[in-house]
Amino acid sequence: MAVRFFQNPMPEFIPEATPSTPQEQEEALTVGNSLTKLLAMPHAPLSERLKRAALDLKETAMYWGAAHGLAGIMHVLMDMELKPDEIEDVKGTLKYMISNRFSSGNYPASEDDRKSDVLVHWCHGAPGIALTLVKAAKVFGDKEFLDAAMEAGEVVWNRGLLKKVGICHGISGNAYVFLSLYQLTRDVKHLYRAKAFACFLLDRAHKLISGGEMHGGDRPYSLFEGKGGMAYLFLDMIDPSLSKFPAYEL
Ligand SMILES: [Zn+2]
Repeated sequence: MAVRFFQNPMPEFIPEATPSTPQEQEEALTVGNSLTKLLAMPHAPLSERLKRAALDLKETAMYWGAAHGLAGIMHVLMDMELKPDEIEDVKGTLKYMISNRFSSGNYPASEDDRKSDVLVHWCHGAPGIALTLVKAAKVFGDKEFLDAAMEAGEVVWNRGLLKKVGICHGISGNAYVFLSLYQLTRDVKHLYRAKAFACFLLDRAHKLISGGEMHGGDRPYSLFEGKGGMAYLFLDMIDPSLSKFPAYEL
């Protein structure tokens, strides 16, 4: 199936490095948009192109959260090699979000929705932003990001025992905030909280879903919306120091 869309005319080996020559840098920003042209690009100029696209997306993002918005874009950018002005851009965006969060400590879902303090999900709200702030604390070492991540963790602890079980907008995804904070701080309080959420799922989820008190998810066995996410969390709880939010924490 994939071969139909991604025929591979590329060499076996593609060197991995940042654009070094002015020609490579220029090429990274000007090559056409067709999939074939992008696939044919060497890794170095392509990575510069992807970084540019992420920075541009930031300017038009309407949402704030990890799945659809600013937190997700910042998360990806922090995995890239950034120039000093780009670092300031990422830090400035995160600081803007921190200073414009709700007084409860939770985060708005979007720029246009600054009054509705409802969602405490990975996709929208404090949990996804907490993971990005943990990463910012690791990458930049700023205490401001660590403090904001801890505060977002408190919101998740107080309001994050949701009615769904999955990763995207469920208890399993929210448990990863505590695992991430535990890995950063080594404070066992966060490990206890992750354990509490995981044990709640283990002990109650099946019964509460059968009784209609919890929602089994629109796609009940999927990784992001259903019990697949719960299973993923249980496996990560075997060795919490190595856990990673799937496809987000790299
Ligand atoms: Zn979601």
